[in-house]
Parts: sequence; structure tokens; C-alpha cells
Amino acid sequence: MDIAAFRAALGDIPVQDNPRIVQQKSRDHYWYSPRLKQQLENVTAQLVVSPRSVDEVVTVLREAFKYDVPVTPRGAGTGNYGQAMPLSGGVMLDLMNLNKVIKIEQDRVRAEAGVILEQLDEQTIHAVNGELRFHPSTYRMASLGGFIAGGSGGVGSIRWGGLRNFGNILGLKVVTCEAEPRILDLRGPDILKVAHAYGTNGIIVEAEMPLTAHYDWVDMMVGFDSIIDACAFAEQVALQDGLLCKEISPVAAPVAHDYFNRHRPYIRSREQSVVLLMAAPAAVPALVDFVAFHEGDLLYRADTLTPEEKAKLPPIYELAWNHTTLRGLKIDPTITYLQTQYPDLAHVKWAVDTFGDEMPMHIEMTRFDGRVVFSGLPIVRYSSEERLEEIIRLHEENGCLVFNPHRYTLEEGGMKRTDRAQLQFKKEADPKGILNPGKMIAWDDPDFDFESGRTWLFTGLYTLG
Ligand code: FAD
Repeated sequence: MDIAAFRAALGDIPVQDNPRIVQQKSRDHYWYSPRLKQQLENVTAQLVVSPRSVDEVVTVLREAFKYDVPVTPRGAGTGNYGQAMPLSGGVMLDLMNLNKVIKIEQDRVRAEAGVILEQLDEQTIHAVNGELRFHPSTYRMASLGGFIAGGSGGVGSIRWGGLRNFGNILGLKVVTCEAEPRILDLRGPDILKVAHAYGTNGIIVEAEMPLTAHYDWVDMMVGFDSIIDACAFAEQVALQDGLLCKEISPVAAPVAHDYFNRHRPYIRSREQSVVLLMAAPAAVPALVDFVAFHEGDLLYRADTLTPEEKAKLPPIYELAWNHTTLRGLKIDPTITYLQTQYPDLAHVKWAVDTFGDEMPMHIEMTRFDGRVVFSGLPIVRYSSEERLEEIIRLHEENGCLVFNPHRYTLEEGGMKRTDRAQLQFKKEADPKGILNPGKMIAWDDPDFDFESGRTWLFTGLYTLG
């Protein structure tokens, strides 16, 4: 790697080499995992480069190829698995300056990769009263490109599934890392070559996303005596086709009381489990009746709060998804979490009975291939890596999937295995293997057995033929 020559070739493209800032930009939210915290603590790049246009991205990649400089793309750096951390040093490619919204139509939007999701929605709501189908709970920070390359689903996934479901990304513009970088427009199944590939095989510079109708979603919280009652209610809400909800998340006691500081006044006791909800305004009266029918305790609904009361509370989605873990870590830095999937309520009950308060349950109700499933993000009161592995093993032995968030490679953790299409695309788009090195095992170890019998959430492209 000749970093000095690389830097000299960049002309006036903004570059940062202040070691403190470079280290800061070399990190994501890897520290949610005690294992990754230990492994990745000292990882850092040498430079941060912040191109302002697609042409500048092309220049950066051309010169990186020429001078053998590893390139790790970065959006807002909110990923949880060290995905955006430069294992081989080199340069952080900061994409947040590419933040233009290019075209808004009634049912879709095309924007540059660095646009922040909330800011994208503001523009589409203003233009066509449309919003993204779903977003991570990091809505107010995360970039569009980072979500597509590193995320999976989120608030809205109860209706629309995940990012890699067909139709949830309409098009990607991707720059390759070659002697003369190409700009490719990927559509249809080709999108899956790059979606959730951690930026290992191309830099996303633009994306076209479908929109759905925008609502002034109403935050609600409902209490129950047990997490199983909360989950049973959540499943029934999720199955009601007439109740339009964007978010349904049961959270076990004592998490809500102990970790949701600003909502604590609404929670009756440490023993209360809750369900977090976002409902379309027209659905709220029926949902209130549904709560009464299921003997839930309606703790609050945001549409009846005063503006002063409302101003004190974060949006309910910032209690959900990995914000539950974040709020927990702020109170108790020794906890961690898992990513699981329970096929039905009986399996949730098994986990609750088996692990008790060692693993307070947190579920996100999601729609997966048309079925409502219990996606778990349980808190784990961490004792040792061995015990964490045992909890994972017990889940797998009992028919519950685990997507290990304590691994930084695509194959071992994240949400799926590397598929052949992603590996093949890397051979074409990154022949030197300098894009986010170390994150795709199959690149470094061609003999890696990615069909070793483990269960993965996304089956991958090659199953299509
Ligand atoms: P980064 O973290 O910067 O990057 C993510 C990955 O994409 C990295 O591998 C990076 O190298 C790569 N990358 C970034 N930009 C590009 C690009 N333009 N081209 C190619 N590769 C690129 N995730 C969810 O899916 N759902 C959730 O609800 C959710 N909730 C979260 C809550 C909290 C509190 C935290 C900390 C994380 C959460 N995450 C969630 C994970 C993360 O926030 C999301 O995946 C987020 O969308 C990442 O966006 P980012 O801009 O921060 O990407």
C-alpha cells in the first residue's frame, strides 16, 4: 500500500488524517458485543476521504486500486458488528457528502447513498405524502447506503418484511474498484449481489426505493403481567389485517422499567412487561378496543398527551430494535444481546422459561415470507463467552434460529451466509480484494464451507437458479 502516493493523487477531494478523528471514523457500534469490543478495539484506518460526487468516488477507487490501498465504506457508522471497521487499515470512504435526493415519484424515490433516512422521508412526505416502507431505529442518523449494505429491516417490517425481500429495493448504482472503475446500474435479482454485502464488492452511490403512504403514526404502550401475555397480544395485533401498525414490539420486565428512563412514569411497576406500538391514526380506536379485549393496560397513547408531555419523550421506535439494547447499555454496560428468531409463541415460552432473567426477552414482530414471526433481540446478562455460546447452542438445538451479532464476517454473523452471487460479483467488481477486506470469508478462503448445515435467514441468490 502506498498511502502517500494515493493521497497525492486525490487532488482537492477532502481528506482527514487527524489520528483522533480517523480513529473515531474507523469505528461503528461494535462495542455492543464484548467479543467484538476486545477483538476490534485497536482497528484504525490511516485516512478518511470524503468525496462529494460520484466522479470523486470513481477517482478514489481508481487511485486506491492503483496504490493497493484498502477501502472501507462508511455511512453514519451505526452498524453493530464492526462491519464498517477497517481490518486492514487504509482509507475510510466517508459517503455522507453524497446526500442529494435525485427524483421523487408517487411511489418511489431515487437518492444518493449518504442521505440520512429521516431527511429522505421529510422530502418525500413533503413532495408526495409518501415515506420509506421501513427504516432502522437509527432513522435519525443512518444513511440510505449504510442501511442497504449493512442493515436488514426495522420499523415497518411487520408490514413489509426485510430489505432483501424482492421489491423492497428497486435499483442500485454501484461503483466498482478496478483500474478503471465502472458505474453499474443494478436492477432485479442483481440488487441482491450488493445488498447486505457490507460494501465488500462495490460502493453504492445511489439507490431507488419504493414508497408507501405516509401517516402521522401514533405511539402507544400497553402493559401486561407477563412477557408471554405481551407476546400473545402482539401476535394477535400483527395478525389483524385491519389494524395498520408500523411497529409491534413486546419487551419483558424489568427492561421497560429499568431502561426506558423517560417513559418510566407511565410504567406501573418493575414487574410490568410492555408492548410498544406505532399505529395509523384511523387504527387507534379499534386498537384501544383490542387492548381492552385482551385485558391489556393502556399505559399511554401519544395522541392524548399534551405537547409538553410529548416533547419529553423520544419516539417509541427509539425504544425498539437495537435501541432497547442501547438504552440497556447506558444503564448497565455489562449486558449484551442476541439476534434470534422464534417460529411461534411456544418457542418464545421455551426461551423465557429456560433463561429467565439471564435473558430478558425483547421481540420485534416481523413479517417474513408472508408469515408473522417473533424476531428476537433479547438482552443477555453477560457472564462469559462460553455461556453466550451455550445460550446460542441451546437455541439452535431447540429449533430457534440465531444470527450471531458477535461476529464481524458476513458468513458467521450478520443475517445470512455469503452467497455465490456475492462472491462472484466481488471477483468482477473488486479483483484485488481491497474493498472492506476481511469481511467475506469465502474471498479469503475459497474452501470455506458455506453450506455447512447452519441455518441462515436469507437463502441467497443461488437458490434462484
Ligand atoms: P454504516 O454503519 O456506516 O455501514 C454499514 C455497512 O455498510 C458497513 O459494512 C459499511 O462498510 C457499509 N457501507 C456503508 N455505506 C456504504 C455504501 N454507500 N456502499 C457500500 N457499502 C456501504 N439495523 C437494522 O437493520 N434495523 C434496525 O432497526 C437497527 N437498529 C439499530 C439501532 C441502534 C441503536 C444501532 C446502533 C444500530 C441499529 N441497526 C439496525 C444497525 C445499523 O444502524 C443499521 O444497519 C444502519 O442502517 C446502518 O447505517 P449506517 O449509515 O450507519 O451504516
